[in-house]
Amino acid sequence: MISVAEALDRLFSLASPLDVEEVPLRNAGGRVLARPVEAQRDQPPFAASAMDGYGVAEAAPGQRFSVIGEAAAGRAFTGSVGGGEAVRIFTGAPIPDGVKTVVIQEDVDRDGDVITITERLGPGDNIRPYGNDFRKGLRIDAPRVLGPQDIALLAAMNIANVPVTRRPKVAIISTGDELVMPGEDPGPDQIIASNTFGLYVLMQQLGADPRLLPIARDTEASLRTIFGMVDDADLVVTIGGASVGDHDLVANVAADMGLQSAFHKVAMRPGKPLMSGRFGKAMMVGLPGNPVSAMVCGHVFLAPVIRAMLGLGAAAAPRETLRLAAPIGENGPREHYMRARLCREGVTVFDRQDSALLSVLGSADALAVRPPHDPARAAGDEIEVIRL
Ligand code: AMP
Ligand code: MG
Repeated sequence: MISVAEALDRLFSLASPLDVEEVPLRNAGGRVLARPVEAQRDQPPFAASAMDGYGVAEAAPGQRFSVIGEAAAGRAFTGSVGGGEAVRIFTGAPIPDGVKTVVIQEDVDRDGDVITITERLGPGDNIRPYGNDFRKGLRIDAPRVLGPQDIALLAAMNIANVPVTRRPKVAIISTGDELVMPGEDPGPDQIIASNTFGLYVLMQQLGADPRLLPIARDTEASLRTIFGMVDDADLVVTIGGASVGDHDLVANVAADMGLQSAFHKVAMRPGKPLMSGRFGKAMMVGLPGNPVSAMVCGHVFLAPVIRAMLGLGAAAAPRETLRLAAPIGENGPREHYMRARLCREGVTVFDRQDSALLSVLGSADALAVRPPHDPARAAGDEIEVIRL
């Protein structure tokens, strides 16, 4: 048996960053910036008023000015402003020549075209200096997952098309004579394919482009047919049929169809059987079928593989160290990813850890990671967790 870290290393050796494509800015949210980009202009491109008010050369309480024009956002005042003169100015308008300060409208009494500055006059010139936000050439480094704030900044930088890493195409294949799709009418000996959909959404959330292939039945012919539909996937994920039972055919059929196979027993709970290798132009990962095992392996193995393909580096799922809210017993010989819940007091590990219990996984928001042979732990002891 190999360790989780070793299994991950072998997966990373198969997963390389995908190529770069340009997408329109509005489609770049959640995508991974693939190359650094630079601002195409200075922002703001002129000194601008930060408030609605009056632009003057110098301001003191009691001073009077005659209003000689108006400057609004997108409509500059082109003349220049001398002593005793003021320009009505609005937020975002370019500061006219001669204006050194903007008196906010609340600090002014207006009578026709004459204004008088009141005793209230506040501090500050209410001017946003030229280039105060950023200068041309400001660089945003890659890789970076682009969020809404990044998109706003890229827009201000006048970047209309963004170089991003192509989304990994993931073909998901469920296997088993007992499986039907949600919404179908299962026979008495059938169950609904579940982790299939959990993994689909996990892939989507990671920024991949998943596709559900039809359920493969536990025959060589059916598996061959479904493998034949893989098309141009970057990653093929099979679920189930990965142990060594009479009906576990995935490894054999995949090998027959050219999988450069590496079948691993990984020293982890839940999980254990894990298959990986090159499959044509794609990479293949075979997951165990048990619903919780498949989901945990999705977080522990598939998520890092997708991040590597997106160019975000080869790193295990991030862990943080928290404190136990309640004691737990000793761990066995395999690394254990225990379903747990986080609260203010710390981490509570659920009592029921069977790898078929999706209801327990559904109540969990973290996996508490126990090293092999970890002794019993008391409340208050530190434990590593992966957030779900
Ligand atoms: P297997 O790895 O094929 O032996 O499956 C192990 C267990 O997981 C069996 O109880 C299967 O019925 C169940 N199982 C396999 N695939 C799925 C799936 N896609 N959704 C839900 N349960 C599954
Ligand atoms: Mg099966």
